[in-house]
Amino acid sequence: MIWYEKGLNFKCTGCGKCCTGAPGHVWISEDEIRDMAQAIGIAPEDFVRRYVRLVGDRLALREIEREGEYDCIFLRENKCRIYENRPKQCRTFPWWSRNLESEQSWKEMASSCEGVDSPDSPHFSLEAIEKLLSS
Ligand code: SF4
Ligand code: SF4
Repeated sequence: MIWYEKGLNFKCTGCGKCCTGAPGHVWISEDEIRDMAQAIGIAPEDFVRRYVRLVGDRLALREIEREGEYDCIFLRENKCRIYENRPKQCRTFPWWSRNLESEQSWKEMASSCEGVDSPDSPHFSLEAIEKLLSS
């Protein structure tokens, strides 16, 4: 039996907490670079120069260190500057297989995300979650 068989609640409040904290990686593709660059009105090469870092052979958004916290380069006053065009990794949170691996992993993630498990948040059925996982 899947532990989230009865579904789960979630709604992003836009608090920005998942965009800062310990160092991490927001992985991005070439297509996403093109789309994000277009959305903010600059050339892809300029976007790469300003906002992208190479980690091994992968591309990720840059982070800015601020008093021991590592902010995504697009975080401004706790809001994402490119929210409508944010990368897939951000759009699919919290529906990542590692978060849904067990109830414990879900609860651990939920402890730092106020939009998870709130009774006021929209309910996602098992079918809806499975679809999001495979997207
Ligand atoms: S921590 Fe949760 S509620 Fe806050 S911005 Fe991230 S996904 Fe949204
Ligand atoms: S792109 Fe936006 S949503 Fe994604 S980590 Fe950066 S600030 Fe947060």
